Amino acid sequence: MTRARGLKMTPQRRLIVEYLRGAVNHPTADEVFSAVNEQLPITSRATVYNTLNWLKAAGMIREVFEAGNVRFDPNTTNHHHFVCRACGRIDDVDFDSVGDVAFCALPGRQEIESYDVTLRGLCAACQPVA
Ligand SMILES: [Zn+2]
Ligand SMILES: [Zn+2]
Repeated sequence: MTRARGLKMTPQRRLIVEYLRGAVNHPTADEVFSAVNEQLPITSRATVYNTLNWLKAAGMIREVFEAGNVRFDPNTTNHHHFVCRACGRIDDVDFDSVGDVAFCALPGRQEIESYDVTLRGLCAACQPVA
C-alpha cells in the first residue's frame, strides 16, 4: 500500500481513472484493460492491475464479486446490486430500496460492519415482450 501511494499519475493511469469514473457496468480488470487499451495501445496489463489496486487502497473504487469474477465499482457508497441472469449486467440498487435485512442468530458472534444484497432476475431489456 505504501508503494501504491507513490504511484505517479501517468496518462495511462489518468485514462483508467477517467474510464472507471464513468463506468456503470462494473467492469472486470480485463474489461478495463481492453477499454483503456483501445485509446492508449501501449497500456500494459500490469499498469491496469497496479492502478486498480491503488484506487482500491485509496478507497476510490470497491470490488464486487460476482460469478467468480472480481469487478470494479466506482460507486463506493453503500448500495446493493441487481444481476440479470440473461445478459449478466449488474445494476446499482439504492441502499434504501431494499428493506432492512434481519440478522438472526449468526453462528459465530460475528460483528457486521457492512452488507450488500445481490438481487437476481431479468433486467428490463431481457424481459419477454408481453
Ligand atoms: Zn438483461
Ligand atoms: Zn455497484
